[in-house]
Amino acid sequence: MIMTQYVLPPPAVSVVPVLGTSEVFPVRRILCVGRNYAAHRAEMGGDDRDPPFFFAKPADALVTPGSDVAFPSMTSDLHHEVELVVALRAGGADIPVADALDRVFGYAVGFDLTRRDLQAAAKDKGHPWDASKGFDQSAPISAIRPWSGPAPQGRISATVNGQSRQDAVVSDMIWNVAEIIAQASRLWCLAPGDLIFTGTPEGVGPIARGDEVAGAVDDVGELRFKVL
Ligand code: MN
Repeated sequence: MIMTQYVLPPPAVSVVPVLGTSEVFPVRRILCVGRNYAAHRAEMGGDDRDPPFFFAKPADALVTPGSDVAFPSMTSDLHHEVELVVALRAGGADIPVADALDRVFGYAVGFDLTRRDLQAAAKDKGHPWDASKGFDQSAPISAIRPWSGPAPQGRISATVNGQSRQDAVVSDMIWNVAEIIAQASRLWCLAPGDLIFTGTPEGVGPIARGDEVAGAVDDVGELRFKVL
């Protein structure tokens, strides 16, 4: 047997707790959908000719439940985006929509934290979004609730210091969960451990140091963190 000799300790695998168990879900990649609710697309200046699209965050951007979030560097406009997160137990390429939900392990509630000022600057220059989306601690997430059958359809909401900021229904998504998985699998070969943040509804806005942020999706769970 050939033993691998690392020149450095290998990086830790990012994990997310599984609700109601002592087990954890190991994360491979994080994909995110942009502009997947019409009212959010409109508030971001888009229109109905703009289909949703994908971007990515590194797996080590996750913040596990119960941990707080350090206000990130290089921004004065940090935004909350509450999202339904899909956790895949299986993957593949060119997955038919009709088979897509078979790949789902479960669902979580997450925030796609965004350095909106850096995103605006990147858009202006036609530069990549990575620094505005894929920064450290940019992806707080709840425990994953194991799930089979039709995807969640209910209310998705976010509050800051107890005040409502986002309040919509998952069924308003432009691409539904099965369509998202099918679309993503045409661009990448998906694999067990992949997470997909499915986009945020309208009402995104700034958060500051000291704020208490909470998000919830009906039947899936809730997530709370403080910005330090
Ligand atoms: Mn988002």
